[in-house]
Amino acid sequence: MSTLTVTFWGVRGSIPVPGPDTMKYGGNTACLDLRSDAGDWIVFDAGTGLRVLGESLDLSKNYTVNLCISHPHWDHINGFPFFPVIYIPGNTVNIYGPGTFEKSLEEIIRGQMQYSYFPVRTDELRASIHFYEIKNNQFEVGNFKVYTHLLNHPVTCYGYRVVYRDKVFIYLGDNEPYYNVFKDNDPEVVQFAKQMNEQLIEFVKGADVLVSDAQYIPAEYPKKTGWGHSTTHHIINLALKAKVKTLFLFHHEPLRKDKEMDAIVTHYRNVLKKKGLTLELYAAAERESYTF
Ligand SMILES: [Zn+2]
Ligand SMILES: [Zn+2]
Repeated sequence: MSTLTVTFWGVRGSIPVPGPDTMKYGGNTACLDLRSDAGDWIVFDAGTGLRVLGESLDLSKNYTVNLCISHPHWDHINGFPFFPVIYIPGNTVNIYGPGTFEKSLEEIIRGQMQYSYFPVRTDELRASIHFYEIKNNQFEVGNFKVYTHLLNHPVTCYGYRVVYRDKVFIYLGDNEPYYNVFKDNDPEVVQFAKQMNEQLIEFVKGADVLVSDAQYIPAEYPKKTGWGHSTTHHIINLALKAKVKTLFLFHHEPLRKDKEMDAIVTHYRNVLKKKGLTLELYAAAERESYTF
């Protein structure tokens, strides 16, 4: 039987929030990795959790790191300059991700290491760095078949579906369900939003593990509509419709305290149990792994 292991290195959205209230789930921003029993390895997003991942590696060895960026907002890229692998000769880092209408993926990653922002330029990095800009395509990383899907966020943002033998893993970066922004009930727009949401269900369908942005709880959503994030409610419904086996809530609201996170998980687990639903639910926690 084939197995995959996902490990969380940073689970927070928007900004790092270290402190006594985030000790359990962690304060670093988005970064996780997926490893197969055959040694295949992908890192998703380069938030400040990427530094923590870097610390876990034996840096006397050489690595080829395949880094898939969901989108270039700060909380998904600003751990990159602090990833020790990029400073060691003999290492290779392949960066996959979208560009924006302003800049290519390469310009974005190089841009945050310009003189005004950071003392080392990407040209001075000792590892060999390659950029692969994604345009809703699919690619292979070792035995992993990787599929991408455009998400609804205020910048180009991709979700990743990784198929490895009989296993399916999905990481959805920042994403909000589509809705009619004009709130005029125009049937054409309502239908379009419905279709786009159905396409996401198709993309997620049958996943063994889904990791998804679930930044808000429903009570917070009216004030945050249009900010490009999902609620716990949205994502649990998506997981149920797509017949996902295990769901990890991810990209936690920075103000969310550990105790509140525990209460959210307990609440939804009770609801699922009462309804006789078998979806396994967790809130992603920094430095924790899950093998499936
Ligand atoms: Zn984010
Ligand atoms: Zn974002």
